Amino acid sequence: MLLAHKIELRPTPEQKDYLDRACGHRRHCYNQLLDYFSQKDESGQLVNKWSKAAAYQYYINVLRVKFPWYSEVSSRVTRNAIDDLDNAFKHFFRRCKNGEKPGYPRFKKRDRKDSFALREAEKFDVENRTLRIEKLGSRIELRQKVRFGGKCKQVTISKRAGKYYASILVETDEYDPKDVNRQPSVGVDVGIKSLATLSNGESFPASQPLKKELRKLRKEQKKLSRKVVGSNRRARAKLKVQKTHFRIARQRQAVAHQLSDYVTKTFDRIVIEDLNVKGMIKNRKLSRAIADVGFGMLRQMIEYKAKLRNCVVVIANRFFPSSKMCSSCGQIKQDLTLKDRVYNCDCGLSIDRDLNAALNLNRYSS
Ligand SMILES: [Zn+2]
Repeated sequence: MLLAHKIELRPTPEQKDYLDRACGHRRHCYNQLLDYFSQKDESGQLVNKWSKAAAYQYYINVLRVKFPWYSEVSSRVTRNAIDDLDNAFKHFFRRCKNGEKPGYPRFKKRDRKDSFALREAEKFDVENRTLRIEKLGSRIELRQKVRFGGKCKQVTISKRAGKYYASILVETDEYDPKDVNRQPSVGVDVGIKSLATLSNGESFPASQPLKKELRKLRKEQKKLSRKVVGSNRRARAKLKVQKTHFRIARQRQAVAHQLSDYVTKTFDRIVIEDLNVKGMIKNRKLSRAIADVGFGMLRQMIEYKAKLRNCVVVIANRFFPSSKMCSSCGQIKQDLTLKDRVYNCDCGLSIDRDLNAALNLNRYSS
């Protein structure tokens, strides 16, 4: 299965220079090709009909000779512009055939969707958090590791608003939909104390670094609110808050990836609560805790990974009393409060509150 992961780059000034030139050369080559294959004679007929082979001939015999500086960067940077333009023409021909608005391929403009691609494994490689590109002497640092294990098939570098990104396409078998070793079913209770408790007794503790960052954020926000509007100090405090927000977002993402990876790799059927709604209407403190772990994101991740791995996700109805029901006898305890960490039932069951909820979810049938 081919999956893409887009990661921000941290290029040095020299590396930025290479990336900028590569984007520029690719755009130049693309525009040269488009110009050549769009020329018309006096009667309005195309002089050179587009075909990939003809484009390749023109590229080798004319463009590369005329513009020797193409070779400053990986030769594939400009060579791959042929494929890109071929795609644009294919779409154009298809739309013409279907009687849609044709949308003839357009010239690329500077600083608008600047990008280039390397589609040949020997022209680049990814190792830990670094990316090598042909003809660039040093490895570019990546902000994150590639999320999927497997062979990197192609990389597309793009530049947006002064930032550089690499979209890395990986051939991975981590999402094997026919995995036979998975267990049948699990209930996942997303909680306050721990991030999640599973019906098989495992639990994912709340991320300590995340908690620390959240405390820090609250302090910084308080400080910010006290600063005079328009002052330099306020600007600095604001920047601090933004940076903390960013770190928190990344940590939440990391935690959500861990949990969603685990449950979708290990179980065929995953039952989760419809907490999005429930948390918001029921309890402010609870909804705060849920927002802290980013439940919406967690649910989204579980759902998309389940799709890839061919598992079933069941969202329990929000009126399902997963916490209040005894997982042993089915009695419902109406007076259970959020403070009760242990569920004690008249039938003799005494069990961790979150585990009780996870067990009930595991048995949930819609
Ligand atoms: Zn009971």
